[in-house]
Amino acid sequence: MTSATHSSVQSHVFHRDLKARYPVAVGGEGCWLIDRDGKRYLDASGGAAVSCLGHLHPKVVAAIRDQAGRLEFAHTAFFTNEPAEALADWLVARAPAGIERVYFVSGGSEANEAALKLARQVHVERGEPGRIHAIARHQSYHGNTLGVLALGGNPARRALYEPLLGLPVSHIEPCYAYRHQGEGESEEAYGLRAARALEAEILRLGPETVSVFFAETVVGATAGAVPPARGYFREIRRICDRYGVLLVLDEVMCGMGRTGTLFACEQDGVVPDMITTAKGLGAGHQPIGAVLVKGALAETIEQAGGVFAHGHTYIGHPIACAAALATQRVIEADGLLQRVSVNGEAFREALEARFGQHPHVGDIRGRGYFRAIELVADRDTKAPFRRGLGLAARIKAHAMAEGLVCYPGNGTADGIDGDHVLLAPPFIASDEEMSMIVDRLAVAVDAALADIA
Ligand code: PLP
Repeated sequence: MTSATHSSVQSHVFHRDLKARYPVAVGGEGCWLIDRDGKRYLDASGGAAVSCLGHLHPKVVAAIRDQAGRLEFAHTAFFTNEPAEALADWLVARAPAGIERVYFVSGGSEANEAALKLARQVHVERGEPGRIHAIARHQSYHGNTLGVLALGGNPARRALYEPLLGLPVSHIEPCYAYRHQGEGESEEAYGLRAARALEAEILRLGPETVSVFFAETVVGATAGAVPPARGYFREIRRICDRYGVLLVLDEVMCGMGRTGTLFACEQDGVVPDMITTAKGLGAGHQPIGAVLVKGALAETIEQAGGVFAHGHTYIGHPIACAAALATQRVIEADGLLQRVSVNGEAFREALEARFGQHPHVGDIRGRGYFRAIELVADRDTKAPFRRGLGLAARIKAHAMAEGLVCYPGNGTADGIDGDHVLLAPPFIASDEEMSMIVDRLAVAVDAALADIA
């Protein structure tokens, strides 16, 4: 297998090689990135749903400067620090009921690794060490470190590393109405049917062996802003409770206001045992992630006289926590959740007006400022374009030429073929910028389709 087999639009090469392939970003200003030649790019995806406040938000930059002048680092084996404590309090005060503890890390993969390990420790402390199996879904992405790469359901990302993926994990069908909802089946009935795949898998494995079920509340990079059907997660919660399986919702991409509520799962009426978050938490101004944990899980460990058997050097990093706290304060003070929720509908309408009749756009979906279009070769059969045509990569290249950063991806239809474009604009984008996103995307999509016609 060549390395080209494993490359995707999101893959990265080493620094020193990069400047031959990509423009060199030298500045940011609101929703815009600026390269060394002065070209401006409207950042309609925050890279990968990161920059929810755009670039160089003055209040976040000021908080970073201030914290850097006070305390840059103090190892959590010896100290806690003020920004970490304040951020944890802020998040818990706004989290779904029962979520009472926070474990800070430096990104999404670390957050999911920590959640996997915490689940293991809780089961051991509860006297159920045989619960080692994880269940996740096809078309999921939970990160690139080995544990969570095993957990994720994207075959292209896993293929090269398959022999190294030791975690006992199985994958069930995702909840993906566009392709899986039956003719004449209601959304609720489909949601229940999709959720029951979890019950079947738990029973197949033996409930006493299952530790955890992981899912992205709204699926991000692997399939493109796929929201759950109504009732899906309520049924998932019921099944997890019935069999003693912990439920982790990965909101690394879709959380922190991206869908119009601080946590996407608020819209699904469920409280998971853990929520993982990252990207929008620090809005890209600093690398930070977190696991938000039900109080009862932490108490299980504490009552057994232990501490969470895990750790990284940069846990609770003061400058990262200060940046995240400033980010969250801006979101609240400026009413940005409300803005995303209300304007998210206008965004959907604009996408539908532009792409609703497009012969190669099969689905337009998402929530809030987390939206995607799915490209198909044939709208009637929903047949995807072949991966070899590289449609997603072509859209990315044309968009960059147009001065638009969007997030195209592969693997929509069967995990291998299929293309989508994910949009995750900054919450602060103006109406004019939101329209420009749709206009420039339409140009890029048509130019890419013309390439392969
Ligand atoms: N989980 C989800 C849903 C993601 O989208 C990502 C990154 O795209 C990750 C986990 C991994 O996060 P990171 O790249 O910060 O390790």
